[in-house]
Amino acid sequence: MNLVNLMDPEQQVSFTEAVKVGLGRKQGVFFPAELHKLSDIEALLALPFTQRSGKILQHLIGDELPEDTINDMVMRAFNFPAPLVQVEENKYCLELFHGPTLAFKDFGGRFMSECISLFSQGERVTILTATSGDTGAAVAHAFYEKENVDVVILYPKGKISLAQQKLFTTLGKNIHCYAVEGSFDDCQAIVKQAFLDEEVKEKLGLNSANSINISRLLAQVCYYFEAFAQVPQDKRNNVHISVPSGNFGNVCAAMIAAAIGLPVKKLSATTNQNDTVPRYLKSGNWDPNATLESLSNAMDVSKPNNWPRVESMIKNGIFDKDYFYSSSVSEARTREVMQQINSTGYVAEPHTAIAYEGLAINSKADETGIFLATAHPAKFKESVETVLQQQLDMPKVLSDALAKPCLAETVDANYAELKQRIFDKLA
Ligand SMILES: *Cc1c(COP(=O)(O)O)cnc(C)c1O
Repeated sequence: MNLVNLMDPEQQVSFTEAVKVGLGRKQGVFFPAELHKLSDIEALLALPFTQRSGKILQHLIGDELPEDTINDMVMRAFNFPAPLVQVEENKYCLELFHGPTLAFKDFGGRFMSECISLFSQGERVTILTATSGDTGAAVAHAFYEKENVDVVILYPKGKISLAQQKLFTTLGKNIHCYAVEGSFDDCQAIVKQAFLDEEVKEKLGLNSANSINISRLLAQVCYYFEAFAQVPQDKRNNVHISVPSGNFGNVCAAMIAAAIGLPVKKLSATTNQNDTVPRYLKSGNWDPNATLESLSNAMDVSKPNNWPRVESMIKNGIFDKDYFYSSSVSEARTREVMQQINSTGYVAEPHTAIAYEGLAINSKADETGIFLATAHPAKFKESVETVLQQQLDMPKVLSDALAKPCLAETVDANYAELKQRIFDKLA
């Protein structure tokens, strides 16, 4: 697989290289140089999830990895289902929260962990990542107790839900967590600085596990095929998929799925009040505002890292003009929609509600709509219970995590101090 740096097209790398380095020169993200169509989509859709996913990843990655290796990695990474639930006559929900940390990030995190373990070949690796909520838990669980791997996670103290936080700060062992007195942007700035620090890179064997790692995106392509496999055959030719979007990684994976032949008719990427992309598509000006805290906190991103990838696909003309939509949903409307969905008998957390609303905003009558449930409602227990005025059942992983003490250390948003702390522990 050949990938191009979208900021510096001279830089072309293999899949292995792209996974290892994460970001390219000039902070550019990597993207496949070419995307080829799969041959027999209907036959592919007839296969079981993991077997089909192995074939899709083989098609994307190419002969850089042996087929058996990819299949084994997929079997270990995707060891939980992605069911499609019918919510209304022409509306389905793709539930992506059945993994160990109850959010779709498990698919990408677990496949990335397989890739990094394979490519590091026993060398010591330190994964350093900042999280706005769900990535931290997915990455921590994916690498938990893996030999020769340490994971360092930074999160903004007090700005993520208790359930999100307890799912990674209670693990211990090779998972090291720091609650930073600051914002998610401060955490990301520290991570970026560490990647420019040769001493840290060398001593710790630093690897990026953040949302721009290409292995995560490719893994996510697979569950869009799984969604179609569960749609009745006579409805597959007019499907509108709505993805709740923050960093625009998930919707980018949907576009890759479409580019390699999945017959997606229309895509909606719907944001919360952090609406840089919808405003950009209207005005042509890229003008991020300060990030606002929202009910859907995993989408509190005003400078989406994956936007250049999405835009590269829009610009190269593989899709119709009326194919890609992006709108934003206010906080008040998010609450209303959560109640509206609840009246159909389904419980949705705020991110999922925004995806549901995306279908309504951009819909045509005869479509089959699929909205993505990106997290389990219990992960946002406080806001869901307040908005819906009802008690939620806690899945066991969550009640277990909530009962354990938080092992994170609190630190100032200060690079030098944090570097010293990490060295004392790991170097
Ligand atoms: C990360 C996340 C999103 C946003 O996904 P992007 O790929 O960043 O657009 C939406 N919902 C939940 C629950 C998430 O954790």
